[in-house]
Amino acid sequence: MNIHEHQAKEVLKSFGAPVAKGVAITSLDQAKAAIDQLPGPLWVVKSQIHAGGRGKGKFVEKEAGEKGGVRLGFSKEQAYEHVKAMLGHHLVTAQTGAGGKQVNRIYIEDGADIEKELYLSMLVDRGTGHVAFMVSTEGGMDIEQVAHDTPEKIMTLGIDPVKGVTDADSKKIADALKLSGAAAADMLTLAPTLYKAFTQKDMSMLEVNPLIVMKDGHLRVLDAKVSFDDNALAIKGRHDDIIALRDTTEEDEKEIAAKEWDLAYIPLDGTIGCMVN
Ligand code: ADP
Ligand code: MG
Repeated sequence: MNIHEHQAKEVLKSFGAPVAKGVAITSLDQAKAAIDQLPGPLWVVKSQIHAGGRGKGKFVEKEAGEKGGVRLGFSKEQAYEHVKAMLGHHLVTAQTGAGGKQVNRIYIEDGADIEKELYLSMLVDRGTGHVAFMVSTEGGMDIEQVAHDTPEKIMTLGIDPVKGVTDADSKKIADALKLSGAAAADMLTLAPTLYKAFTQKDMSMLEVNPLIVMKDGHLRVLDAKVSFDDNALAIKGRHDDIIALRDTTEEDEKEIAAKEWDLAYIPLDGTIGCMVN
């Protein structure tokens, strides 16, 4: 199961990870009050869809304008205009397919002063059965290109499930990201915090792209994409809080039906799908 960026950040924040203040809205009437809750001077207006690549995405409808699904508002008025332009329209990204996904929800977030954008993700390495961190100094919107052209710029570190994340592991991650000062110190708590969130919530994937070093030298989780292990969610009472975050409007009708029957099914384009049981 996937969740929205703002929900993922809420989950990570509950474990103590550094995220910005933000407000999620589902209608234009909520926009002004949401914008007023944030201090400015930068309001980042972010389309919430279950797909990445929003920043570089394009809207189907002309009235949504030329900019992507993540827009910077340098005044409250501009932030409001961005909400108005994006809400209800269809955003096409490298991960949505040609029709795009309708933006039914917008996250308005406090803008960060970015010094550097880094990449950090976690997944279950099926080869070793360990949770692994993957990190790169080349974070931001071109990570797929980096993975394709210069995979050596991505460092993978498996975590011993008995020991968990040790200080030595955190230091390896900080070194691979070329962190120093406050950011390197932050990683000593951030890596174990993310590991705890990942394992306690039975995530199957956590991608923070970008993880940023701010102008003040500290780290912040600026984007968060999380998937949970459906087998863990199927255990009654184990993750009721996570199940409550499910947004079926983001899911394919065929997939929802398959889930009701407990089938592992992945719809593909057209009239075919993949079912493995
Ligand atoms: P996506 O990965 O779907 O394109 P991101 O959340 O990564 O969406 O946002 C795209 C880019 O927008 C980021 O790489 C960053 O440069 C910028 N951005 C996102 N959130 C903020 C923020 N709160 N403050 C400043 N810049 C941001
Ligand atoms: Mg991103």
